[in-house]
Amino acid sequence: MPLPGLFDYRAGGEVRPGQRVIVPFGRRELVGVVVERPSMPAIAEEQVRDVAQVLDDVPPLPEDWLRLAAFAADYYQRPLGEVMLPALPGPLRRPAAYRGKRAGGGPVARLDARAARAAGGKRKGRPGKAGASGDGDVVAGDRAAAGAPGGAAGMTATAGPAVPGDGLVPARPALSAAQQAAVDALAALQGFRPVLLHGVTGSGKTEVYLHAAERVLAAGRQVMLLVPEINLTPQLEGVLRRRLEAVAGVRGVAVLHSGLADGERLEAWLRAVRGEARVLIGTRLALFTPLPELGLIVVDEEHDPSYKQQEGLRYSARDLAIWRARDRGVPVVLGSATPSLESWHHATAGRYLLLSLPERAQAGQLPAIRLLDTRPLRLEQGLAPPLLAAVEARLQRGEQSLIFLNRRGYAPVLHCDACGWVSGCRRCSAYMVLHRAVRPGLAGGPYRHELRCHHCGWQERVPAACPDCGNQDLQPMGRGTQRLEEYLAQRFPQARIARIDADSTRLKGSAQKLFAQVHAGEVDILVGTQMVAKGHDFQNLTFVGVLNADAMLFSHDFRAPERLFAQLMQVAGRAGRSGSASEVFVQTGYPEQPLYQALVRHDYVGFARYALDERAAAGLPPFAYQALLTAEAGELAQALGFLAQAREAAEAWAAAGDAAAVAAQPEAGSTRRAAVAPMVSAGAAQPAIAADMSRITLYDPVPLRVVRVANVERAQLLAESDSRPALQAFLRSWTALLPTLPGASRVRWQLEVDPLEI
Ligand code: ADP
Ligand code: ZN
Ligand code: ZN
Repeated sequence: MPLPGLFDYRAGGEVRPGQRVIVPFGRRELVGVVVERPSMPAIAEEQVRDVAQVLDDVPPLPEDWLRLAAFAADYYQRPLGEVMLPALPGPLRRPAAYRGKRAGGGPVARLDARAARAAGGKRKGRPGKAGASGDGDVVAGDRAAAGAPGGAAGMTATAGPAVPGDGLVPARPALSAAQQAAVDALAALQGFRPVLLHGVTGSGKTEVYLHAAERVLAAGRQVMLLVPEINLTPQLEGVLRRRLEAVAGVRGVAVLHSGLADGERLEAWLRAVRGEARVLIGTRLALFTPLPELGLIVVDEEHDPSYKQQEGLRYSARDLAIWRARDRGVPVVLGSATPSLESWHHATAGRYLLLSLPERAQAGQLPAIRLLDTRPLRLEQGLAPPLLAAVEARLQRGEQSLIFLNRRGYAPVLHCDACGWVSGCRRCSAYMVLHRAVRPGLAGGPYRHELRCHHCGWQERVPAACPDCGNQDLQPMGRGTQRLEEYLAQRFPQARIARIDADSTRLKGSAQKLFAQVHAGEVDILVGTQMVAKGHDFQNLTFVGVLNADAMLFSHDFRAPERLFAQLMQVAGRAGRSGSASEVFVQTGYPEQPLYQALVRHDYVGFARYALDERAAAGLPPFAYQALLTAEAGELAQALGFLAQAREAAEAWAAAGDAAAVAAQPEAGSTRRAAVAPMVSAGAAQPAIAADMSRITLYDPVPLRVVRVANVERAQLLAESDSRPALQAFLRSWTALLPTLPGASRVRWQLEVDPLEI
């Protein structure tokens, strides 16, 4: 657990900021990062303990990396240690790797020994008696690598296939005029410049990234390419990898994501740090990798919510990528068919350079999108007759269909007609979802259904009768992907049907397998959730049916329409890659809604204009800046009580009306100048900036929509401002104050800056 505050230690010899050290902390030892060298410790001289060991197996973390960490800690109001330590590969932050029998070894030495052996080199002169223990360590390293997810092995840095010098390198297509214009514009850039590459699905954004990357590589610089979810986009990764390996060499491309084993992650990280890897492809965590010769950052699908970390340091990798690019003086390219409204707003205001790819790169036309007004129709199990007819027609032509329903399970709730009982979770204020069991019941009996809570994970058997009235005829209400799959199997007995959702892909590698079946043409109808919407190029898919989109249309969350539009454009983009005419049907009871009207026209720009007008009128982001304080407690009243105190304290500052009240609040870390951050520390020496409280709005504390999860009750308080500096200044003072509130001991609280979901 990272601790707040910076901590002082005495170092015997030279230590430099960015160096890792092992320090005693209480009765344990921890790895820390040297942050600064104060002339005077913040605590009594005799209480300062000695650094136990200075680690020099990797060069000190570079200055720009320290700046990035300090910025993130300050911006997201988290301890510096919580930014720095998780950003390092696991082995580099575990003291055990450096202590005891393995003294002098350390994970890096082990890795190097392994690499040397793998390269066939006999490494001479291993220090001292490291020989025997060295071998043992090599085994440990190998085991870590072997523990990698099997399905992902081909994508890891270490296990990459030999360079495909035999025509496996994908051909370089001649660029379209729009692509060429974008490539030229990127080539002309000097220094920092954010670029928004807006290209419809299939417009060939990847090709533009590749050209830009090749230029940067040729100039001797490194490229960082961020993607939302690497495990779900093996196609993209494969293409990028092969093409870039052709330029940078096999060892020149490193891949980083959370699915890697420790040893693999360490190796990719080290190769990037040492400059051996010229291209780093990775998910959000890769953003924190030191790259000494960084020349370009690309953020693909920049609108994707996966760039936002949802726990601990709740950072946006896209936003930090822009900060990092500015700090390093390099261009950053954000690509999307449906940019976030924040990025679009910047681009239309001229702060970002806007490049557009308005057409598909290949022959394939964008699919025709049609709204199916469900109000006058008689639905069959939720499916409109024209949609079923469209599937039927594809089956006859030997083409594929995709039915998109963003709700997994069999039915969202089980229900008793006789008394009104519904399947609520006993630990959450939410319904238990009905799931069809994947295995037959005991003694080969019939499949048993199960109730599962999607919030807390609680599972139980479906009751044989209503717990309240004994009625034995409990009914599922509504439908999820399992029920849809079941119905389609009855309706189209000749069809081969596959379902891709979080349930059907629980096992490692199963998602890749299912996608491979679809690509191989072994599937006629694909049923899927948002998992199928991203990235995949299904060549023979000519029909997409969308169910239940309306559920997101009238959500409490003001970003829901933006997400819905992006999702529908994405899923529609799965169709029509092959060139034959394709169709998308969206079932809705509200076809006149502007969102749907823009969708039919493939009109992101129109949608964005409309949605931004609404945001401006309501004073919502990107026209305002937000932070969300969430409190959790055994009882809602405690959570609400703490938030009320937090608001009152801020209101008192506002009432005081001057900076003095704010400046008088304790500033965490401001008096502590610290040498070392063992999992530790708040931004050092922040100036006591007084917040202009007249620019801060604090809303009423409210319970979360699902108020209770796993018997914990939750409430939130939204803080908003029309000025980011004013909000930041306020948050600094506020987060210092919050732990001192009387209610703080009874709640767990966290602050999220720029929350994505409210
Ligand atoms: P996007 O990321 O914009 O949705 P992709 O980069 O996946 O689009 O490109 C879609 C398809 O078009 C890919 O199969 C890609 O190989 C192909 N492609 C890209 N540029 C060209 C081009 N200039 N000529 C022909 N095909 C292209
Ligand atoms: Zn009942
Ligand atoms: Zn629950």
